[in-house]
Amino acid sequence: MRDLTNISLLPYNTFGIDVKAKRFIEYTSLDELRDVLKAHKGEQILHIGQGSNLLFTKDFDGIILHSGMARARFLDDETVEAQNGLRLDDLIAQLTDMGYSGMEKLSLIPGEVGASAVQNVGAYGVEAKDVIIRVNTIDTQTLEDRVFTNEECRFGYRDSAFKHELKGRYIVTSVVYHVTPGEAAKTREEIIQTRMAKLPTVGEVGSAGSFFMNPFVPEQQADELLKQYPEMPHFPSPQGVKIPAAWLIEQCGLKGQTLGGAQVWQKQPLVIVNATGNAKPEDIINLAKLVSDSVFERFNIRINPEVNYI
Ligand SMILES: Cc1cc2nc3c(=O)[nH]c(=O)nc-3n(C[C@H](O)[C@H](O)[C@H](O)COP(=O)(O)OP(=O)(O)OC[C@H]3O[C@@H](n4cnc5c(N)ncnc54)[C@H](O)[C@@H]3O)c2cc1C
Repeated sequence: MRDLTNISLLPYNTFGIDVKAKRFIEYTSLDELRDVLKAHKGEQILHIGQGSNLLFTKDFDGIILHSGMARARFLDDETVEAQNGLRLDDLIAQLTDMGYSGMEKLSLIPGEVGASAVQNVGAYGVEAKDVIIRVNTIDTQTLEDRVFTNEECRFGYRDSAFKHELKGRYIVTSVVYHVTPGEAAKTREEIIQTRMAKLPTVGEVGSAGSFFMNPFVPEQQADELLKQYPEMPHFPSPQGVKIPAAWLIEQCGLKGQTLGGAQVWQKQPLVIVNATGNAKPEDIINLAKLVSDSVFERFNIRINPEVNYI
């Protein structure tokens, strides 16, 4: 177990925000995790993964918990259980090498297995929910194990019950995924190339990936917008008509827009980057507000952050 006090969170968030945490604890077993939870009951605790979807807005006056558990094992021919601290892309790389498919379209998404279930990560038409069978957790209050079936996780677009009514109550300890024997190496390679061309590379340019979620609007509103903007990309769905937030932002002329050290990424305007490497949280917060307000003023559509403000 690693137990550090008053540490910089710079290595623990991909945005590259240099704030401090009062304490940082990394456990390496479920027993250690239970001991930590027991010893610090009632204290402010935040469990993080790779910190690739977080925006630390100030110093964190509590305990940051991180998992050092990073193993995966097959439960049967088509079922793999991965521990929360394993990088999702490492898992996909291992599965691809072993001749398994199902998760290759999620290649190169930063972050760890635990958060893949919390966030219901997705890319290229596949979401974590399509391959998650169940999610194993520990209840932070009773310290008991609880298993959530796929249905009980109430997955939605970049969403799950762990972001709402269950937030902070359960720590995801491992995720059980369904995979099938099959060749995935070519698709994985193509996806890696496409993503590298379009998205900032973690470790080189600070970001949290897509800053905003794509909005869904009622059919009538989409029809009216289409009269004005016939070229507007739009995707009807049961939730309403999905409109790419990147298109809305680009129409507002905000590609490349800077504010302090923050910038709307030129190659993909859905992404806000720490362009100078020393952006302050307020730079990112204010730029995100500028983007969201501009889109609202022009299209009467509110785009909401995908990133978790801490
Ligand atoms: C360059 C880049 C590209 C990206 N591309 C995509 C993409 O294509 N698709 C996509 O969906 N996302 C994408 N993301 C966002 C990000 O990768 C995902 O949201 C990812 O799931 C975050 O994982 P993490 O381990 O970094 O979690 P963190 O950012 O550390 O945490 C995210 C949330 O999960 C909670 N959490 C973390 N671990 C646990 C746990 N074990 N138990 C309970 N709660 C937990 C945290 O408290 C927090 O609320 C991208 C990010 C970057 C930087």
